[in-house]
Amino acid sequence: MRAFLAGLEETGDLKRITRKVDARFEIASVLSLRERGPAQFFETVGGSPMPVVGNLFNSRARFARALDIAPEDLDTACLNALQNPARPVLIEDAPVQAVVHRAPFDLGALLPVPHWFEKEAGAYITAGVIVARDPETGRRNVSIARLRLEGGGRIMAGIARNHHLAMLAEKARLRGHALEIAVAIGNHAAVLIGSQMYLGLGDDEFDIVGGLLGEGVELVKCRTVDLEVPAHAEIVLEGELRPEDLIEEGAVSEFPGFYVYYGPGIGGEIKCVTHRRDAIYQAILPGYAAEHCLLGAVAIGATLTRDLRRSIPAVRRVLVTEGGMGRLHAVISMHRPRLGEGKRAVLLAVGLVNLLKHVVVVEDDVDIEDPRQVEWSLAARFRGHEDLIVLPGVKADRCDPLHEDLVVTKIGMVATTRPGDGEAGGRSEFARPPAAIYEHVRRNLDDY
Ligand code: MN
Repeated sequence: MRAFLAGLEETGDLKRITRKVDARFEIASVLSLRERGPAQFFETVGGSPMPVVGNLFNSRARFARALDIAPEDLDTACLNALQNPARPVLIEDAPVQAVVHRAPFDLGALLPVPHWFEKEAGAYITAGVIVARDPETGRRNVSIARLRLEGGGRIMAGIARNHHLAMLAEKARLRGHALEIAVAIGNHAAVLIGSQMYLGLGDDEFDIVGGLLGEGVELVKCRTVDLEVPAHAEIVLEGELRPEDLIEEGAVSEFPGFYVYYGPGIGGEIKCVTHRRDAIYQAILPGYAAEHCLLGAVAIGATLTRDLRRSIPAVRRVLVTEGGMGRLHAVISMHRPRLGEGKRAVLLAVGLVNLLKHVVVVEDDVDIEDPRQVEWSLAARFRGHEDLIVLPGVKADRCDPLHEDLVVTKIGMVATTRPGDGEAGGRSEFARPPAAIYEHVRRNLDDY
C-alpha cells in the first residue's frame, strides 16, 4: 500500500489533510463528501499517533493502477488470477511486525478507528482482511468483515451466516473452542480483491492474490496465533472469535446506503497488535460508497465471468455495476448469442450469485462500462414482450433492501442481437461512411 500511496502523491491523486480531524464522524464526513477523486490522507487524527488513509480504491482505474495494468485489463487480470493462482511464500522478517503490543490495551487508543454513521453503536474497522483456519480441515480462509470495537481488546464481527468465516466460527463452536483470527489492515490491492473472490470453502484466497501479483504473496507467521498474514501490511491484529459470545449489533450501515438490523454479531478478543514503524491505518468508507461497492463488484464480476463462460462460450464479460451497489445489478456482454442463450445467461447468473437481482444482457459491440451504451442496447435491441424475464419469489440475499421474507423478484432483460441482425438492407444495419475511408481515418485519427 505504501508504494502505491507514494505513486498517487506523485501524480496529484493523494490529498493530504493537515488539519487535525476527529475519528468520530469527521473522517466519515470528509470521505463521504470526497467519495471520488484523490485518495484522502489524514495526517493528524485526534487522540492517535497514526495517520488514516481512505478512498484509496474508489474507481476501477485505481484498482488497475495498483495492479500495474491498464484500466480496461482489470477484468482480464482477475480472470487470469483465478485461472493461474500462485501459492504464498513464507518469509521471516516482516515490516508489519516491527512494533509489537501485547494485551492489555485499548484498541481504540492504539488505532484511529473511525465512527462512521450516527446510529451505529461504535467504531468499525472496515478494511480488515481476516485470516482464519478451518478447525476441521486446517484450510485457510481470507475475507473481509466489519469489526466493531467493544472496549479494551474486545471486538464484534458482523458476518452473514453463509460466509466462510461464519461457517468456520460455527465449526469451532461445535468443537467447543474459539476460532483464532488475524486481521491485516493496510494491504496491497491484490490482497483486498483476492479476499473478495467467490471461491469454494477450503480454497485459499491468498492463492488468487498470488495470481493477481504474478508471484506468491509474502506472508509471515503471527506472533501469538497459528496463522500467517501479509508481511507488507501496515497493521495486524491477532486474537480470536468466540462464537458462543454473541453481541447485539443494533443499527449498522450496509451497501444500499440504509441502516440494517441484523441482530447479534460474534464477539471476540484481540490479544496482540503488530505494526510497521509509522504505520498508516487504512479505512474503507462503508455504506453506499464507491470503494465499498467496487471492492465487491470487481470480485463478483470476475468469478461470474469465469463461471458463465464455462457453460456459455458466447459470454464475454460480466460487469457488476456501481449504481447497483456493486452487488445487485449486472451487465453481461455476449458475442453473437444463439436464440435464447441470453436468457440462459441471466438464469445462470442469478442462480450463481444470490445477491444479483436485475441483469441486463448486451452484445459485445457495446462498452458495458458505459451506461449510455447499455441504455442504447435496451432501446435498440430489447423487445419487452419476449426479452424480459420476471421471476417472482426467488431466494434473496439478506442485504437486499427490498426482500420480503428473504425472497425478491429477479428480472432479466436481454438486449442482444439475434441471428440475422445487422444484415444489409435490414432494420439493424449500422449507418456509417464507406468502410475504406472510415478505417483509414480511424487508423490515422491522431493526424486530424
Ligand atoms: Mn473463502
